[in-house]
Amino acid sequence: MNIFFDVDYTIMSMDGKIRPHTHDVFSQFISMGHIIYIWSGVGLRHKDVDRLGLNEFVSGIFVKPVTEYETGIQRFKVDPRPDYVIDDHREIVEFFGGYHVSPYYFKDDSDNEILELFENTIKYFETGLSDCKKLFHKNN
Ligand SMILES: [Mg+2]
Repeated sequence: MNIFFDVDYTIMSMDGKIRPHTHDVFSQFISMGHIIYIWSGVGLRHKDVDRLGLNEFVSGIFVKPVTEYETGIQRFKVDPRPDYVIDDHREIVEFFGGYHVSPYYFKDDSDNEILELFENTIKYFETGLSDCKKLFHKNN
């Protein structure tokens, strides 16, 4: 699966700190054969990906459309098409399918959202089913 992660408040706090378990979960997705991409509505985030130590996990960095998703991925040349998106903004998750994380605003070492995302997601990938309310099936 081509898994697309948002940056702000999804894997990074307001003050630029990495969300707990991000490295670990990226690494585990990759070991299972998935491919990790980063996109952001405010532009290309090469500097943040580098600063957060995520370069080795990330196969591509794109601009994320914040509206008109279908024309947006063409306009911004997002290739491959996202199979599964992880974002604190619900609408884009509903559109592509994926997981709507609670926003991560401030550094919090006890935050488990990325771990929960991983556990719910692998269950869903294995069975095609999920009763998790944060997980959205692809509807397009
Ligand atoms: Mg965000």
